[in-house]
Amino acid sequence: MANIFHSIFRAFSPSLWGRGGAARSDRAGVGPRIGFGYDVHRLVEGRPLWLGGILIPHTHGLLGHSDADVLIHAICDALLGAANLRDIGFQFPDTDEAYRGIDSKILLRRTADLLHRRGYRVGNIDATVCAEHPKLNPHIEEMKAVLAPLMDITTDDVSLKATTTERLGFTGREEGISAYAVALIEKTE
Ligand code: MG
Repeated sequence: MANIFHSIFRAFSPSLWGRGGAARSDRAGVGPRIGFGYDVHRLVEGRPLWLGGILIPHTHGLLGHSDADVLIHAICDALLGAANLRDIGFQFPDTDEAYRGIDSKILLRRTADLLHRRGYRVGNIDATVCAEHPKLNPHIEEMKAVLAPLMDITTDDVSLKATTTERLGFTGREEGISAYAVALIEKTE
């Protein structure tokens, strides 16, 4: 019986710890890569609401060092994660006065440029915004039209979704808005 287990172990172990490991390092960065991003900003009075690169009429806006566009920030983190380039706070520190009040569309363009310089192109994006108010569905197509060219992709490759959290949690209490995003990227050479 012990020999059977030994044979099974030998059969599987090369792909798990042996040749498989070597093969993976040979292929580093090749093929599609996936990344995930998440961000939260607080809703406050007296700030404009920038979301998905557009200005949305609302009683409150998002608070942050930049324009606090939580959706763009989640997308940037997904892209940076896919390329293993850390995160938006690492690339564009909120301690840097250069980024105070900056339009997050500029950060998304710079993120895409970082990926392009490393030989990646963006495949597609899928993102979800969690907000009780305002209703975002009327704005989704405009957001896609603004965001897609910043990543050199078409609106077919940008999926944006909006949901409430059924009045639960900080988004349900309208204390803030959160966003989740996944990104697929590919090597161009
Ligand atoms: Mg942020």
